[in-house]
Amino acid sequence: MKMETNWEVHALQGEPAERVIEWAMKTFGEKVALASSFQAEDMVILHMASRIGRIRVFTLDTGRLPQETYELMDKVRELYGVEVEVYFPDTARLEEMVKKYGVNLFYRDPSLRRLCCDIRKVEPLRRALKDLRAWITGLRRDQWETRRTVSKVEVDRIHGNILKVNPLADWTWEMVWDYIRKNDVPVNKLYSMGYTSIGCAPCTRPIRPGEHPRAGRWWWEMGSKECGIHTGGE
Ligand code: SF4
Repeated sequence: MKMETNWEVHALQGEPAERVIEWAMKTFGEKVALASSFQAEDMVILHMASRIGRIRVFTLDTGRLPQETYELMDKVRELYGVEVEVYFPDTARLEEMVKKYGVNLFYRDPSLRRLCCDIRKVEPLRRALKDLRAWITGLRRDQWETRRTVSKVEVDRIHGNILKVNPLADWTWEMVWDYIRKNDVPVNKLYSMGYTSIGCAPCTRPIRPGEHPRAGRWWWEMGSKECGIHTGGE
């Protein structure tokens, strides 16, 4: 990271989300992209970015996404005029995994769940980031224990020390939904069915009253609610 960028990164920590997004887009141009799984936070960032200029958007299509997510992906293309860059799992690794362990291996053992996430998400993300200098995510500190220390702009040591930009790091769930309502931002239909965090269809369920918003992710497992893309596969 260059000295002047280092200084800017420090100064950006207290800036509003729009300013952080604008800085990233102007500083890195085609070398920055929004990583979107079309969750509420990603849709807020895309809406803000679309008011600033053109932004690259990529997604990881695991092959197990809910139909509602694919519908929103198409809507995003039409509404914002962006070409969503879609990264798929490596075919040979995927075929080998399914042949050996079956399609629903993730329910059987945490190590098989991590293998599936590695092949369907972690490795494709590495490819997506290969030529970028920065990526933008919808991470927020209050999403989960492992995200408490997320900064608005930080060095991503897992992915070759490029910058990771998290404009909503200090936002709450309520702030996300206030913005969505005020700006009529389109969202995944699953939110209206009790989902609060949306990933692959077989690994996500709606939450019950009083449950943590991430309780519906890998609900049969105790502990980590991470797929590995933000934690290096852990
Ligand atoms: S969330 Fe589930 S289906 Fe998706 S990659 Fe991970 S284990 Fe596989």
